[in-house]
Amino acid sequence: MKLFLASANPHNAAELSAFAKASEEAAGVRIEIIPAQAVGGMPPVVEDAGTFVGNARKKAQALRPCLPAGAWALADDSGLCVDALAGRPGVDSAYFAGPRGDGAANLAQLIAVMRKVPEPERSAQFRCVLLVTGPDAQEEIFEGSCGGRLLHGPRGRAGFGYDPLFVPNGREQTFAEMDAELKNRLSHRARAWARLAEWVRQSSIA
Ligand code: IMP
Repeated sequence: MKLFLASANPHNAAELSAFAKASEEAAGVRIEIIPAQAVGGMPPVVEDAGTFVGNARKKAQALRPCLPAGAWALADDSGLCVDALAGRPGVDSAYFAGPRGDGAANLAQLIAVMRKVPEPERSAQFRCVLLVTGPDAQEEIFEGSCGGRLLHGPRGRAGFGYDPLFVPNGREQTFAEMDAELKNRLSHRARAWARLAEWVRQSSIA
């Protein structure tokens, strides 16, 4: 199945293509991720729907007019939901420190607002929604989450965003201390992808 990716982020396309390769090797599920650049680029989208699903839907719908007839679109939205902050930054994860979307500033902001939160209350979940839309307005939603806890200070250099502060449940390393292969087995995106790949396996869409 071909999925046109409604994202301007080349890192997103690379990561999802790696998931697709793994699904083909492990289960024979063939999914091809086609970057938005192949159809003229991702149109700008204001991510103001207030939910992961709503934002992903806005991205998928923005790309639809650029697609060839019969094509399917894939969009994602993700973020970190911190229990002590009543689920924030959540859908605003990319802009926690302001509208510039600066990952290092967002991380510093999270460290600052969590400074006085004691150990047992430092739980958080990364969440990801993958949303697929078809040519006849079909819509499929796949969600994945990864629970863990937040450290007081950053550890590790890999990954991006909030990775240096986040230790997944049952692990000692932060996401930023893990190699990509391990993070890609545990992550919210990997779990949402597994559901999408299972749907593709069961559906008859070529
Ligand atoms: P999106 O591009 O609107 O989905 O924003 C996602 C934001 O959530 C990113 O900018 C990061 O701040 C955060 N985020 C999502 N997934 C991860 C992850 O795997 N590691 C670290 N931060 C993440």
